[in-house]
Amino acid sequence: MRKADQLYINGEWTTPVDGTVQELTDPATGRCGGRVVLGGAGDVGRAVRAAREAFPAFGATSPAERIELLEAIGAEYARRAEDMAQAVTAELGSPISLSRSLHVPAAQPQFHHAAEALGRMDLVDRRGTTWVRREPIGVCALITPWNYPALQPAGKVASALAAGCTVVLKPAQAAPYSALLLAEILDAAGVPAGVFNLVLGRGSVVGDVLNAHEDVDMVSFTGSGPVSVGVSAAAAPTAKRVLTELGGKSPQIVLPDADLDIAVSTAVLYGLGNSGQTCGAASRTLVPRDRLGAFLDALTARIDGLRVGDPQAEDTFMGPVVSHGQWVTVQGYIHQGIDAGARLVTGGPGKPALPAPLEGGHFVRPTVFADVGNDMAIAREEIFGPVLSVIAYDSVEEALGMANDSPFGLCGYVTSSHPGRARAVAEQMRTGYVLINDADFDFNTPWGGYKQSGNGREWADFGIGEYLETKSIVGVTA
Ligand code: NAD
Repeated sequence: MRKADQLYINGEWTTPVDGTVQELTDPATGRCGGRVVLGGAGDVGRAVRAAREAFPAFGATSPAERIELLEAIGAEYARRAEDMAQAVTAELGSPISLSRSLHVPAAQPQFHHAAEALGRMDLVDRRGTTWVRREPIGVCALITPWNYPALQPAGKVASALAAGCTVVLKPAQAAPYSALLLAEILDAAGVPAGVFNLVLGRGSVVGDVLNAHEDVDMVSFTGSGPVSVGVSAAAAPTAKRVLTELGGKSPQIVLPDADLDIAVSTAVLYGLGNSGQTCGAASRTLVPRDRLGAFLDALTARIDGLRVGDPQAEDTFMGPVVSHGQWVTVQGYIHQGIDAGARLVTGGPGKPALPAPLEGGHFVRPTVFADVGNDMAIAREEIFGPVLSVIAYDSVEEALGMANDSPFGLCGYVTSSHPGRARAVAEQMRTGYVLINDADFDFNTPWGGYKQSGNGREWADFGIGEYLETKSIVGVTA
C-alpha cells in the first residue's frame, strides 16, 4: 500500500497545515491501494508565497543556467524511470508495458526537449533602438488531469522552468503517486527551494484558491471543458493568463486507398490504448462505405486477440479505467449508443470475465459501434473509455465535413497509401495535431487544440512561449 503524508513546499517535505486524508482505490481490484494527504487553503498560501519569494532570483537566471538544471532533472528522471512506470500503473491501472513504453518515455524527455528549445530561442529581438524582450510571466499554477499523470506535469513543469517561472503543481486527485515522485526527482536534481511546489488536493479547494489567487500570474490548466469554464471565470477578476488544454472527439479518416492493417492499428492503438482515456483518442473512425465490412472484420479480429486484464502482466494490452465513476460514465455511453440505434459490433455493457482479485476492478469491454450517426452522443461527446464509433462515408468531402463537424478540434488521424492525398486531408482538418498513417507520436512539437479543445500549446518552444511575457523597451542606446 502506498502512503504519503506530506506535501512538497519551499524545497522541503512538510506536513499540511489544514490537511485531510484521501484513500485511493487500486483501479485493477477496486480495493484500497493507498492513502495520501490532501492540502487545504493554508497550504496553497504557503506554496504560492514560496513560489513568489523564489521568483526574483529564479526569473533572473540565464537560459544557460536553466538549460543545465533541465538536463539535470532529465537525468534524474531517467534514473527513476521504473519507479515512475510503477507509480503510473498503480494510480491509473495502465498496463505496465504501456507505462514503460509510453507514459514514461513521453514524460522524461520533456526536460531535455525544453532545454534544447530554450537553447534555440532568442529572448531578445533588437529592432534598432527598440528591444523586444520575452520575460517569465511569474508564479504559475499548474493543474493537471489523471489520464497522462506523468506526461502532463512533466510537460508543464519543463516549459515553465525553462521560461524562468516558479510553480505550484496541483495534480488530479486520482493520480498523486507520480506527482509525489516528480517532486522527489526535482528535489534530487537540485531545483532551488520555492521554484517547484506540490500541493495535492481537491479541485474545489486547492484549485479554487489557485485560480483566484492575486499572487498567481498564470494558470495552466489541462482537463475537461466544464471545469475549465469555472477556472477561467475564477481567474478573470485578477486578469491572469489561463492556458487551457481540454478534451476531444478526434476523427480518424480512413481514405479509400488506405492500407486496412494500418487503419486497424491506428484505431486500436490510439482509440482503445490507455483504455480510451486519451484526450486525443481516435474515437470516431470514418470509413468508406464500400470498405466498412472488411474494416470491421479486421478490427474485431484484432480486438479479439487483445488481452484485457491484469496491468502487471507483461502482455496485457488494456487495463481498467481509472475509477468506478469513470466506469459508470463509460457504461452510460455504451447504453446510449445501443438506445440510439447504433450497431454493437463487439464488446458492450458490463465487465469482461476476469479472475479474482480483478473481478472488482474497473474493467470495460473494448467496444465498437458501427452505423453511427455523426449527430449521436457517442459521436459528439468525449466518452473517455474504450469505445469506438465507426461512421460510414460516401465521399472524402463528406468524411472531412463530418470530421470537422465537432465542437472539439484536438487531434486528427489520416490513413492513406498516397502521401500527397494524406497530407492534403490533414491540412483540411480543423485540429491542432494530425497523425498520418503509422507515424510515431511526436512529443517534441506543439500540442493543443482548436475550438473547444483549448486555447494554447504545450511542449517545445511553443510550450515555453506560453509562460513568457513580452516587453518592448524603446530608446535603448547602451
Ligand atoms: P477535470 O477537468 O475533472 O480535472 C482536471 C484537473 O482540474 C484536476 O486536477 C482537478 O482536480 C482540477 N479541478 C477540478 N475542479 C477545479 C477547480 N474548480 N479549479 C481548479 N482546478 C480544478 O479532468 P480530468 O477528469 O482529471 O481529466 C480528463 C479530461 O482532461 C478530459 O476531458 C481530457 O480530454 C482532458 N485532457 C486534455 C489533454 C490535452 O492536452 N488537451 C490532456 C489530458 C487530458
